[in-house]
Amino acid sequence: MGKRVAWNKGIFGIKMKKRDINWNGTPEERLMNKTRKTDTCWLWEGLIRNTGYGSISIDGKDTSTHRLAYSLFNGEITDNLCVLHKCDVRNCINPEHLFLGTISENNTDCARKGRRSMGENHHNNKLSIKSVKEIKKLLLSNISKAEIGRKYGVCSTTIFHISSGKTWKEQ
Ligand SMILES: [Zn+2]
Repeated sequence: MGKRVAWNKGIFGIKMKKRDINWNGTPEERLMNKTRKTDTCWLWEGLIRNTGYGSISIDGKDTSTHRLAYSLFNGEITDNLCVLHKCDVRNCINPEHLFLGTISENNTDCARKGRRSMGENHHNNKLSIKSVKEIKKLLLSNISKAEIGRKYGVCSTTIFHISSGKTWKEQ
C-alpha cells in the first residue's frame, strides 16, 4: 500500500512539472506576461497583495514580483537584504528602479519584519521609540515612505505599517 502512494505521488509530481513548463512558461515569461511597461515604471498587473506588492507563485511558493524581477534582471538577493523601490511604486518591477537595502542582521523578509515589529522590546527590532516618533512626524510631510525607510535603514513596508497604525500604535 505504501508503494502505491509513492507511485501516485510521483506521477502527480511529473504532471505539475509539465504544467509549469508548457502552460505558464519560465518565471521571466510569466512575470513579463502580466506587466505593462510605461515610460518610467514597469507595472505588474497580476495579483497584488494588500501590502501593495505584486505576488506570483514560483514552484508553488508565493514570491514578491519586485524581488523576482530583481533576481532575474539584477542578480542575487542575499538573505538579509531587502529589495527597495526608488520610485515608491510598489507593484513596479523595473529593475532600474529596484535596489538592495539592509534592514537588520537576521531579517529575511520586509513584510514579515513589518508585521513582527510590535514595539521597542521586540527582539530583532531596529527602531527605537525615539525614531518612531520622528518617523511619524516625517509621515506628515511630503517625504515618501521609501525615503523615510532609507533614512532609518528599514523597509518602506515597515514605514507603511507605522503609518497605518498596524505597528507602534502607542508612540
Ligand atoms: Zn518604478
